[in-house]
Amino acid sequence: MKKHALVNLVSACLLAMPFVNSVAAEEEINIYSARKEALIKPLLDQFSEETGITINLVTGKDDALLQKLKLEGENTPADLLFTADAGRLHRAKEASLTQTIESEVLEANIPAKLRDPDWQWVGLTYRARPIMYAKDRVEPDDLSTYEALVEPKWQGRICVRSSGNIYNQSLLASMIAADGLEKTEQWAEGLVENFARPPAGGDTDQIKAVAAGECDIAIANTYYLARLAKSADEGEQAIADKVAVFWPNQGEDERGTHINVSGAALTQNAANKDNALQLLEYMTNDDAQAWYSDVNGEYPVKPGVEVSDVLKSWGAFKSDELNLSELGKNNADALKAMDKAGWK
Ligand code: FE
Repeated sequence: MKKHALVNLVSACLLAMPFVNSVAAEEEINIYSARKEALIKPLLDQFSEETGITINLVTGKDDALLQKLKLEGENTPADLLFTADAGRLHRAKEASLTQTIESEVLEANIPAKLRDPDWQWVGLTYRARPIMYAKDRVEPDDLSTYEALVEPKWQGRICVRSSGNIYNQSLLASMIAADGLEKTEQWAEGLVENFARPPAGGDTDQIKAVAAGECDIAIANTYYLARLAKSADEGEQAIADKVAVFWPNQGEDERGTHINVSGAALTQNAANKDNALQLLEYMTNDDAQAWYSDVNGEYPVKPGVEVSDVLKSWGAFKSDELNLSELGKNNADALKAMDKAGWK
Protein backbone atom coordinates (compact mmCIF):
# COMPACT_ATOMS: atom_id res chain seq x y z
CA MET A 1 0.00 0.00 0.00
CA LYS A 2 1.36 3.46 -0.92
CA LYS A 3 2.03 5.78 2.01
CA HIS A 4 -0.61 8.38 1.12
CA ALA A 5 -3.24 5.68 0.66
CA LEU A 6 -2.51 4.43 4.19
CA VAL A 7 -2.77 7.97 5.54
CA ASN A 8 -6.09 8.36 3.74
CA LEU A 9 -7.34 5.10 5.19
CA VAL A 10 -6.32 6.13 8.72
CA SER A 11 -8.00 9.55 8.30
CA ALA A 12 -11.12 7.86 6.94
CA CYS A 13 -11.22 5.62 10.00
CA LEU A 14 -10.72 8.55 12.36
CA LEU A 15 -13.47 10.47 10.59
CA ALA A 16 -15.73 7.47 10.69
CA MET A 17 -15.21 6.78 14.38
CA PRO A 18 -17.37 9.54 15.84
CA PHE A 19 -20.07 8.51 13.38
CA VAL A 20 -19.83 4.89 14.47
CA ASN A 21 -19.99 6.00 18.11
CA SER A 22 -23.05 8.16 17.59
CA VAL A 23 -24.86 5.31 15.85
CA ALA A 24 -23.98 2.98 18.72
CA ALA A 25 -25.19 5.56 21.25
CA GLU A 26 -28.56 5.70 19.52
CA GLU A 27 -29.15 2.01 19.96
CA GLU A 28 -30.39 2.23 23.51
CA ILE A 29 -33.49 2.72 25.60
CA ASN A 30 -33.65 4.48 28.95
CA ILE A 31 -36.33 3.23 31.27
CA TYR A 32 -37.72 4.44 34.59
CA SER A 33 -39.44 1.44 36.11
CA ALA A 34 -41.51 0.97 39.24
CA ARG A 35 -41.28 -2.78 38.72
CA LYS A 36 -38.65 -4.51 40.82
CA GLU A 37 -35.57 -5.31 38.75
CA ALA A 38 -35.96 -9.09 39.11
CA LEU A 39 -39.50 -8.88 37.76
CA ILE A 40 -38.59 -7.18 34.48
CA LYS A 41 -34.85 -7.43 33.79
CA PRO A 42 -34.78 -10.98 32.35
CA LEU A 43 -37.28 -9.88 29.70
CA LEU A 44 -35.31 -6.72 28.91
CA ASP A 45 -32.07 -8.73 28.70
CA GLN A 46 -33.66 -11.10 26.22
CA PHE A 47 -34.83 -8.14 24.11
CA SER A 48 -31.29 -6.68 24.18
CA GLU A 49 -29.81 -10.00 23.14
CA GLU A 50 -32.19 -10.33 20.20
CA THR A 51 -31.95 -6.73 18.97
CA GLY A 52 -28.55 -5.43 20.10
CA ILE A 53 -30.31 -2.49 21.76
CA THR A 54 -28.84 -1.59 25.17
CA ILE A 55 -31.33 -0.93 27.95
CA ASN A 56 -30.51 1.36 30.87
CA LEU A 57 -32.90 0.60 33.71
CA VAL A 58 -33.58 2.90 36.65
CA THR A 59 -35.95 1.36 39.21
CA GLY A 60 -37.80 3.21 41.95
CA LYS A 61 -41.16 3.72 43.68
CA ASP A 62 -44.13 4.63 41.45
CA ASP A 63 -44.85 8.11 42.77
CA ALA A 64 -41.15 8.96 43.18
CA LEU A 65 -40.44 8.13 39.52
CA LEU A 66 -43.37 10.25 38.38
CA GLN A 67 -41.99 13.11 40.47
CA LYS A 68 -38.51 12.60 39.02
CA LEU A 69 -39.93 12.82 35.49
CA LYS A 70 -41.74 16.05 36.40
CA LEU A 71 -38.60 17.62 37.86
CA GLU A 72 -36.42 16.63 34.91
CA GLY A 73 -39.01 17.86 32.42
CA GLU A 74 -37.75 18.06 28.85
CA ASN A 75 -34.26 17.06 29.96
CA THR A 76 -35.18 13.65 31.29
CA PRO A 77 -33.02 10.87 29.87
CA ALA A 78 -36.00 8.49 30.19
CA ASP A 79 -37.73 7.20 27.07
CA LEU A 80 -40.24 5.00 28.86
CA LEU A 81 -42.00 5.05 32.23
CA PHE A 82 -43.21 1.70 33.57
CA THR A 83 -45.64 2.07 36.44
CA ALA A 84 -48.78 0.55 37.91
CA ASP A 85 -52.32 1.87 38.00
CA ALA A 86 -54.16 3.74 35.26
CA GLY A 87 -54.72 6.55 37.78
CA ARG A 88 -50.98 7.14 37.94
CA LEU A 89 -50.45 6.77 34.19
CA HIS A 90 -53.21 9.33 33.76
CA ARG A 91 -51.31 11.71 36.05
CA ALA A 92 -48.28 11.41 33.75
CA LYS A 93 -50.52 12.25 30.81
CA GLU A 94 -52.11 15.21 32.60
CA ALA A 95 -48.67 16.57 33.50
CA SER A 96 -47.75 16.51 29.76
CA LEU A 97 -44.95 14.02 30.40
CA THR A 98 -46.11 11.63 27.69
CA GLN A 99 -46.49 11.50 23.92
CA THR A 100 -48.70 9.54 21.54
CA ILE A 101 -47.79 5.89 21.04
CA GLU A 102 -48.32 4.90 17.41
CA SER A 103 -48.13 1.19 16.70
CA GLU A 104 -50.33 -1.19 14.76
CA VAL A 105 -48.87 -4.10 16.72
CA LEU A 106 -49.93 -2.57 20.04
CA GLU A 107 -53.31 -1.71 18.58
CA ALA A 108 -53.79 -5.38 17.70
CA ASN A 109 -52.44 -6.75 21.01
CA ILE A 110 -53.94 -4.44 23.66
CA PRO A 111 -57.73 -4.24 24.13
CA ALA A 112 -59.03 -0.67 23.95
CA LYS A 113 -60.22 -0.52 27.56
CA LEU A 114 -56.68 -1.31 28.80
CA ARG A 115 -55.06 1.73 27.18
CA ASP A 116 -55.53 5.46 27.00
CA PRO A 117 -57.98 6.49 24.21
CA ASP A 118 -55.41 9.13 23.14
CA TRP A 119 -52.61 6.53 23.25
CA GLN A 120 -50.69 8.37 25.99
CA TRP A 121 -50.16 5.08 27.87
CA VAL A 122 -50.77 1.37 27.36
CA GLY A 123 -51.46 -1.50 29.76
CA LEU A 124 -48.95 -4.36 29.62
CA THR A 125 -50.52 -6.59 32.29
CA TYR A 126 -53.69 -6.30 34.30
CA ARG A 127 -54.75 -7.17 37.81
CA ALA A 128 -58.13 -7.42 39.48
CA ARG A 129 -59.17 -6.00 42.85
CA PRO A 130 -61.75 -8.53 44.05
CA ILE A 131 -63.11 -9.40 47.47
CA MET A 132 -61.00 -11.91 49.40
CA TYR A 133 -62.58 -13.84 52.27
CA ALA A 134 -61.76 -16.22 55.11
CA LYS A 135 -62.71 -19.69 53.85
CA ASP A 136 -63.68 -20.89 57.34
CA ARG A 137 -65.85 -17.92 58.32
CA VAL A 138 -67.51 -16.59 55.18
CA GLU A 139 -70.01 -18.30 52.89
CA PRO A 140 -69.34 -17.11 49.34
CA ASP A 141 -73.12 -17.16 48.81
CA ASP A 142 -73.33 -14.25 51.25
CA LEU A 143 -71.19 -12.14 48.92
CA SER A 144 -72.36 -10.48 45.71
CA THR A 145 -71.14 -6.97 44.81
CA TYR A 146 -68.81 -4.24 46.08
CA GLU A 147 -71.96 -2.22 46.71
CA ALA A 148 -73.33 -4.92 49.07
CA LEU A 149 -70.29 -4.73 51.37
CA VAL A 150 -72.07 -1.93 53.25
CA GLU A 151 -74.76 -4.35 54.49
CA PRO A 152 -74.95 -4.55 58.31
CA LYS A 153 -73.95 -8.23 58.28
CA TRP A 154 -70.38 -7.15 57.49
CA GLN A 155 -70.11 -4.75 60.43
CA GLY A 156 -66.63 -4.87 61.96
CA ARG A 157 -65.51 -7.56 59.49
CA ILE A 158 -63.79 -5.70 56.61
CA CYS A 159 -60.10 -4.85 56.22
CA VAL A 160 -58.86 -2.49 53.52
CA ARG A 161 -55.83 -0.26 53.18
CA SER A 162 -55.81 3.53 53.49
CA SER A 163 -57.41 6.03 51.13
CA GLY A 164 -53.95 7.45 50.38
CA ASN A 165 -53.22 4.50 48.14
CA ILE A 166 -54.18 4.78 44.50
CA TYR A 167 -55.70 1.27 44.28
CA ASN A 168 -58.68 2.22 46.44
CA GLN A 169 -58.92 5.61 44.76
CA SER A 170 -59.21 3.81 41.42
CA LEU A 171 -61.80 1.36 42.79
CA LEU A 172 -63.95 4.28 43.92
CA ALA A 173 -63.35 6.06 40.62
CA SER A 174 -64.81 3.00 38.86
CA MET A 175 -67.82 3.08 41.19
CA ILE A 176 -68.38 6.77 40.49
CA ALA A 177 -68.47 5.88 36.79
CA ALA A 178 -71.00 3.10 37.45
CA ASP A 179 -73.14 4.40 40.33
CA GLY A 180 -72.58 8.18 40.34
CA LEU A 181 -70.80 10.37 42.89
CA GLU A 182 -73.59 10.59 45.47
CA LYS A 183 -74.12 6.84 45.75
CA THR A 184 -70.38 6.27 45.91
CA GLU A 185 -70.05 8.79 48.74
CA GLN A 186 -72.77 6.93 50.65
CA TRP A 187 -71.06 3.64 49.91
CA ALA A 188 -67.73 4.91 51.25
CA GLU A 189 -69.47 5.94 54.49
CA GLY A 190 -71.12 2.54 54.82
CA LEU A 191 -67.88 0.71 54.14
CA VAL A 192 -65.97 2.73 56.75
CA GLU A 193 -68.70 1.78 59.25
CA ASN A 194 -67.99 -1.87 58.52
CA PHE A 195 -64.20 -1.64 58.94
CA ALA A 196 -62.71 -4.12 61.41
CA ARG A 197 -59.93 -1.67 62.22
CA PRO A 198 -58.52 1.64 61.00
CA PRO A 199 -56.72 1.11 57.66
CA ALA A 200 -53.08 0.12 58.10
CA GLY A 201 -50.48 -1.50 55.90
CA GLY A 202 -50.58 -2.62 52.27
CA ASP A 203 -52.79 -5.15 50.48
CA THR A 204 -50.70 -8.10 51.74
CA ASP A 205 -51.32 -6.95 55.33
CA GLN A 206 -55.08 -7.01 54.72
CA ILE A 207 -54.89 -10.58 53.39
CA LYS A 208 -52.75 -11.59 56.39
CA ALA A 209 -55.29 -9.98 58.73
CA VAL A 210 -58.05 -12.11 57.19
CA ALA A 211 -55.94 -15.26 57.64
CA ALA A 212 -55.20 -14.25 61.25
CA GLY A 213 -58.89 -13.75 62.05
CA GLU A 214 -58.67 -9.99 62.56
CA CYS A 215 -61.25 -9.51 59.83
CA ASP A 216 -63.27 -11.78 57.54
CA ILE A 217 -63.05 -9.86 54.28
CA ALA A 218 -60.41 -7.83 52.48
CA ILE A 219 -60.34 -5.94 49.21
CA ALA A 220 -56.95 -6.50 47.60
CA ASN A 221 -55.17 -6.83 44.28
CA THR A 222 -54.89 -10.37 42.96
CA TYR A 223 -51.09 -10.49 42.54
CA TYR A 224 -50.57 -10.06 46.29
CA LEU A 225 -52.46 -13.30 46.93
CA ALA A 226 -50.61 -14.97 44.02
CA ARG A 227 -47.31 -13.93 45.61
CA LEU A 228 -48.27 -15.50 48.95
CA ALA A 229 -49.49 -18.67 47.21
CA LYS A 230 -46.24 -19.00 45.22
CA SER A 231 -44.00 -18.08 48.17
CA ALA A 232 -41.14 -20.37 49.18
CA ASP A 233 -42.12 -19.59 52.79
CA GLU A 234 -44.55 -22.22 54.12
CA GLY A 235 -46.09 -19.71 56.51
CA GLU A 236 -47.05 -17.48 53.58
CA GLN A 237 -48.45 -20.45 51.66
CA ALA A 238 -50.57 -21.29 54.70
CA ILE A 239 -51.92 -17.72 54.74
CA ALA A 240 -52.88 -17.98 51.07
CA ASP A 241 -54.60 -21.32 51.76
CA LYS A 242 -56.94 -19.73 54.31
CA VAL A 243 -58.13 -17.03 51.91
CA ALA A 244 -60.29 -17.34 48.78
CA VAL A 245 -61.11 -14.97 45.94
CA PHE A 246 -64.69 -13.84 45.35
CA TRP A 247 -65.35 -12.13 42.02
CA PRO A 248 -67.88 -9.37 42.72
CA ASN A 249 -70.45 -7.84 40.35
CA GLN A 250 -70.69 -10.91 38.11
CA GLY A 251 -74.47 -10.85 37.57
CA GLU A 252 -75.77 -10.59 34.02
CA ASP A 253 -76.73 -6.93 34.38
CA GLU A 254 -73.72 -6.09 36.55
CA ARG A 255 -70.56 -4.42 35.31
CA GLY A 256 -67.92 -6.97 36.41
CA THR A 257 -65.00 -6.92 38.82
CA HIS A 258 -62.78 -3.84 39.02
CA ILE A 259 -59.47 -4.24 37.19
CA ASN A 260 -56.43 -2.05 36.65
CA VAL A 261 -53.18 -2.25 34.71
CA SER A 262 -49.48 -2.01 35.03
CA GLY A 263 -48.37 -0.19 31.94
CA ALA A 264 -46.03 2.11 30.14
CA ALA A 265 -45.91 5.63 28.78
CA LEU A 266 -43.56 7.01 26.13
CA THR A 267 -42.01 10.21 27.49
CA GLN A 268 -42.70 13.51 25.78
CA ASN A 269 -39.21 13.96 24.33
CA ALA A 270 -38.06 10.35 24.11
CA ALA A 271 -34.73 10.39 22.24
CA ASN A 272 -35.03 6.69 21.43
CA LYS A 273 -38.64 6.57 20.37
CA ASP A 274 -38.38 3.85 17.71
CA ASN A 275 -36.44 1.53 20.00
CA ALA A 276 -38.88 2.19 22.82
CA LEU A 277 -41.84 1.31 20.59
CA GLN A 278 -40.04 -1.81 19.45
CA LEU A 279 -39.65 -2.86 23.09
CA LEU A 280 -43.33 -2.22 23.90
CA GLU A 281 -44.32 -4.31 20.88
CA TYR A 282 -41.95 -7.06 22.02
CA MET A 283 -43.52 -7.00 25.49
CA THR A 284 -46.93 -7.76 24.01
CA ASN A 285 -45.89 -10.86 22.06
CA ASP A 286 -47.27 -14.17 23.35
CA ASP A 287 -44.12 -15.40 25.09
CA ALA A 288 -43.31 -12.07 26.74
CA GLN A 289 -46.92 -11.66 27.88
CA ALA A 290 -46.99 -15.12 29.42
CA TRP A 291 -43.65 -14.60 31.20
CA TYR A 292 -44.16 -11.00 32.32
CA SER A 293 -47.66 -11.56 33.68
CA ASP A 294 -46.70 -14.84 35.37
CA VAL A 295 -43.60 -13.50 37.13
CA ASN A 296 -45.65 -10.55 38.41
CA GLY A 297 -48.68 -12.70 39.32
CA GLU A 298 -50.85 -10.75 36.88
CA TYR A 299 -53.04 -11.33 33.83
CA PRO A 300 -51.73 -10.85 30.26
CA VAL A 301 -53.40 -7.99 28.38
CA LYS A 302 -53.15 -9.82 25.06
CA PRO A 303 -56.27 -11.92 24.56
CA GLY A 304 -55.69 -15.67 24.23
CA VAL A 305 -52.42 -15.81 26.20
CA GLU A 306 -52.63 -18.44 28.93
CA VAL A 307 -52.62 -17.37 32.58
CA SER A 308 -50.54 -19.02 35.32
CA ASP A 309 -51.83 -21.97 37.41
CA VAL A 310 -52.40 -19.88 40.54
CA LEU A 311 -54.59 -17.45 38.60
CA LYS A 312 -56.39 -20.34 36.90
CA SER A 313 -57.25 -21.76 40.32
CA TRP A 314 -59.41 -18.69 41.07
CA GLY A 315 -61.51 -19.29 37.96
CA ALA A 316 -62.52 -17.01 35.12
CA PHE A 317 -64.37 -13.76 35.79
CA LYS A 318 -66.07 -10.89 34.03
CA SER A 319 -64.12 -7.63 34.30
CA ASP A 320 -65.52 -4.11 34.26
CA GLU A 321 -65.69 -2.81 30.66
CA LEU A 322 -64.95 0.78 31.74
CA ASN A 323 -62.07 2.38 29.84
CA LEU A 324 -59.39 2.67 32.51
CA SER A 325 -58.62 6.29 31.60
CA GLU A 326 -61.91 7.11 33.42
CA LEU A 327 -60.19 6.10 36.67
CA GLY A 328 -57.80 9.00 36.29
CA LYS A 329 -60.57 11.41 35.41
CA ASN A 330 -62.62 10.46 38.50
CA ASN A 331 -59.62 10.34 40.85
CA ALA A 332 -60.18 13.71 42.53
CA ASP A 333 -63.86 12.94 43.21
CA ALA A 334 -62.91 9.53 44.57
CA LEU A 335 -60.47 11.08 47.02
CA LYS A 336 -63.08 13.58 48.16
CA ALA A 337 -65.64 10.82 48.73
CA MET A 338 -63.15 8.89 50.88
CA ASP A 339 -62.19 11.98 52.86
CA LYS A 340 -65.83 12.82 53.49
CA ALA A 341 -66.45 9.28 54.73
CA GLY A 342 -63.54 9.50 57.17
CA TRP A 343 -61.64 6.73 55.34
CA LYS A 344 -58.18 7.29 56.81
FE1 FE B 1 -49.11 -3.15 44.18
